[in-house]
Amino acid sequence: MNLSNRAKRIKPSPTLAITAKFKAMKAEGIDVVGFGAGEPDFDTPQHIKDAAIKAINEGMTKYTPVGGIPQLKKAIVEKFKKDNNLEYTTDQILVSPGAKFSLYLAMQALLQNGDVILIPAPYWVSYSDQALLTDADFRLIQATEKTDFKISADDLKKVVENIKSEGLNPKVFLLNSPSNPTGTAYDVEELKAIGEVLLENNMWILSDEIYEFLVYDGYKHNSIVAVMPELKERAIVINGVSKTYSMTGWRIGYAAGPTDIIKAMTNMQSQSTSNPTSISQAAALAALTGPQDCVEEMRKEFDKRREYIAERLNKIEGISCYRPIGAFYVFPNVSGLFGKKYGDRVINSATDFAAYLLDEAKVAVVPGAGFGNDNYVRMSYATSMEEIKRGVDRIEEAVKNLS
Ligand code: PMP
Ligand code: GLU
Repeated sequence: MNLSNRAKRIKPSPTLAITAKFKAMKAEGIDVVGFGAGEPDFDTPQHIKDAAIKAINEGMTKYTPVGGIPQLKKAIVEKFKKDNNLEYTTDQILVSPGAKFSLYLAMQALLQNGDVILIPAPYWVSYSDQALLTDADFRLIQATEKTDFKISADDLKKVVENIKSEGLNPKVFLLNSPSNPTGTAYDVEELKAIGEVLLENNMWILSDEIYEFLVYDGYKHNSIVAVMPELKERAIVINGVSKTYSMTGWRIGYAAGPTDIIKAMTNMQSQSTSNPTSISQAAALAALTGPQDCVEEMRKEFDKRREYIAERLNKIEGISCYRPIGAFYVFPNVSGLFGKKYGDRVINSATDFAAYLLDEAKVAVVPGAGFGNDNYVRMSYATSMEEIKRGVDRIEEAVKNLS
């Protein structure tokens, strides 16, 4: 085999794989209900699309500066100030083809052999594989619904001490609040306590805040870097327009951090993708500087679906579902169904359950294995209420058919 060890270490993204499978089944005419895709089902708001069309017509069709056009960087600086109480200058901002690539570059810029990145689990599928693409190790810190899927400062401290005792360097902590896949989110006191541990140990924080505006039950997002400003010199904040403005396909995300690290990330971008798409940058600029009512409209719709899906799932025997306060996913625990059978088929894991649902009920969900815990499945409620009803009816029926 001619592949590098690096290439052999990673697997395709399971969220994208389920989404692709769902779309292929649909294209074949199969009546399947999809809870896989982690993308808003709404169309991108019209004023954002208009800005892109205008940019094309005005000739914005060439390479742009590698790290993004100055107007967009300026809008991002203003966004951080207004929404997050964080002060950055434009040379501390990088615009990338998606927040996913900003995250990738941050790990590439920070991590090397001997370093460890600490990731609370359940975690978003790409964090672990992006870590595997560096020469560093990653360590998971497990949490369950018993602690609302949150880790404590003490949990973090213990893992940091263990890593040190192995002669390794616990260099980076990755926080994703609000979280994909669990929908949990940390409050200010919890962020402070975690921040103290990071400061004491001279660690970096990589804070993925992409779901900051998709929050419910009165929760308000606070960036850990604003809660604990002393962290700022060792902090990279990641965000993007994909989720807030329903712009997943446009591929615009961004990072903010100390000048030297942003410069290193920009250099790597210049040698890999070059600039993010010019017209998408014009669209992102319109998203950040234009009317914001579209964000609230989408959030309200997600909120209704969240209430409905969590309540319905909790009524199914053998399934229990944490009520999320952020993002657009539920992460029900299905371990109550383990050991049950359908014909010769035995359900022993969430992976088995997800396969059973797809084969027998034509419902696509993502097994928890890729998120670090195979007692759960992830279901995105970024789909219409009708589809949610249809899908949950099918799951209810499929569970009844187990013995
Ligand atoms: N972080 C999290 C937690 C996500 O769920 C996603 C969605 N794929 C991303 C980052 C990346 O988003 P994008 O690359 O579309 O900006
Ligand atoms: N973040 C989304 C998800 O978790 C999009 C797919 C991906 O990039 O993995 O499903």
